Order: sequence, then C-alpha cells, then structure tokens
Amino acid sequence: IIYTKNYIPMTRLELIERLRKALKDGRFHHVLRVEATAIDLAKKNGVDIEKASIAGLIHDYAKQRPDSDFINEIKQKGLNPDLLNYGNAIWHGIVGAELIKDELNVWDEDILNAVRHHTTGAPVMTKLEQVIYMADYIEPNRDFDGVKKARVITAANLQAGVAYQTKHTLNYLIANGKPIYPKTIDTYNAWVPQYE
Ligand code: GDP
Ligand code: FE
Ligand code: FE
Ligand code: FE
Repeated sequence: IIYTKNYIPMTRLELIERLRKALKDGRFHHVLRVEATAIDLAKKNGVDIEKASIAGLIHDYAKQRPDSDFINEIKQKGLNPDLLNYGNAIWHGIVGAELIKDELNVWDEDILNAVRHHTTGAPVMTKLEQVIYMADYIEPNRDFDGVKKARVITAANLQAGVAYQTKHTLNYLIANGKPIYPKTIDTYNAWVPQYE
C-alpha cells in the first residue's frame, strides 16, 4: 500500500521506521498486526484503506511514553482535568492523539478519533473508528477467552463486534476492581443494548 492522500507527510515505510524507534519490539509487531487486521476489516466495511493503515500503525504510538509526557500534554492543551485521575491505559489513546498531531503531523480528525477511541470506544464511532477498535481487540496474537468468538462475530457484523468487545471489557474491568473511565460506560449504553 502506497500513501497518496496526504493524511500524513511521510511514506508508509518512513512511518514504520518512526514506530520502530518509538516502540519496544513486541509493541511494534502488535501495531503491524493491527494494521493488517484493520485493512482487512476496512475492505469488508467500505472504509478507506489508507486511513485504516495509518490509524492501525499509529494507534499505540504514545503507549511507551512516561506519565509526565501525558500530564504535560493534558495541561498544555487544556484537556479535561479529570483525565489526570486515570493512567497510561486511558491516556495513550486520548492524549496520545495530541502527541501524534505534534510529532507526526496527522491532522485528519477521523484518524485522530480512531486513536482517541481505540481503548474506550465512544457512543458514536465512524466505521474507521469501529475498525480500529476491533482490529486492536482481535489481531492474530490476541489470546483471551472469547477471542475466537469475537473474530467470528466481527467478520459477520462490525457493529456486533463493537458491542461484544464493549460488554466483555467492562465485565473484565469490574471483575478485577479496575477504575472505569466514564466514557467506557457511555460506550456500553450506546452499543450493548442495541447491537448485542
Ligand atoms: P493495547 O494498548 O493494545 O494493549 O490495548 P487497549 O488500548 O485497547 O487497552 C489498554 C488497556 O486499557 C486494556 O488492558 C483495557 O482492558 C484497559 N481499559 C479499557 N477501558 C478501560 C477503562 O475504562 N478503565 C481502565 N482502568 N482500563 C481500561
Ligand atoms: Fe492501545
Ligand atoms: Fe483495544
Ligand atoms: Fe493496541
């Protein structure tokens, strides 16, 4: 795949080199698998392949940054101060999108929203956002109870896949006593009763 639409001011191979430097080896290979899975889902769901490739590659760009980078960015960009009550799991998408604007010069809001919402989902998501949310969950190395079912459901119906992931992630967080980011609950209410 060759980038022709100027969503990012570099070639795919230049982007891959940036990611190789920004990420540990395991995480780097994860983003390559998410890209491939996202392209596959994009083809099935009428989504722009170039956007799917870029968003898949960059979705975890900020995952390995120190907490101080996110805290500085939340303050500098005037993001919701409630974000300060969470941690890397929530920050690397929502705040990571701001670091991506600053450092990779991606300005397409659909791609940025796919990064912002890849962990928590959102009540309203474009097809691209749904594709990235699901590709991250079902890429070939994912191995958890229910991942096979998640792949089958997502192949048949992208929205049903979103509902499946949303329900199972919330269940997991509650079972393990983790703090729930309010948007995760909003995602549940918008998707699970309707599409499950
Ligand atoms: P990864 O970056 O490829 O490992 O995957 P994600 O970005 O999708 O998820 C990162 C982590 O965030 C996972 O362990 C999720 O279970 C977790 N997560 C998702 N929603 C929430 C939430 O509302 N609160 C908390 N504390 N963690 C969450
Ligand atoms: Fe992530
Ligand atoms: Fe995810
Ligand atoms: Fe990921």
